[in-house]
Amino acid sequence: MKQLWAPWRLEYIAGADDGDECVFCCAAEGPDETGLVVHRGESAFCLLNKYPYSSGHLIVAPYRHVGEFGELTGDEVLELHRLAASGMGALAETFGPQGYNVGWNLGRIAGAGVVDHVHLHVVPRWAGDTNFMPVLADVKVLPQHLDETRASLAATWPG
Ligand SMILES: [Zn+2]
Repeated sequence: MKQLWAPWRLEYIAGADDGDECVFCCAAEGPDETGLVVHRGESAFCLLNKYPYSSGHLIVAPYRHVGEFGELTGDEVLELHRLAASGMGALAETFGPQGYNVGWNLGRIAGAGVVDHVHLHVVPRWAGDTNFMPVLADVKVLPQHLDETRASLAATWPG
């Protein structure tokens, strides 16, 4: 199964929940630059994945620290969806990807690195990227690159 691809396995490898504090709550509470926040909505926000699988790998999360998918409110669900769509608009403008993987990892076994604060992944895709991405996964992402990407996406955010 050459096509089978686990786009978010890096989240687990990176041990995003090593600390006591929730990375998404910290990002929501701190400055945009520190938390790599790209855009803030009313009940949810969009940030760059600190451990990206590809350039522009976004995460959309509610501000509320909620771990149960079914406990999201109607307003949160709608805004999460809209932020993902707008994020794709900014990505199209900035990186021009050819497609996207959009998905939820619910529970450790499903690859979630942060299990008690649900979040939606938006991963830009390019033809042939499955070949080089496993290689990239071992390369340390330069913080400077993330800062530049954050600023570009924030600047090209639709609306
Ligand atoms: Zn949280």
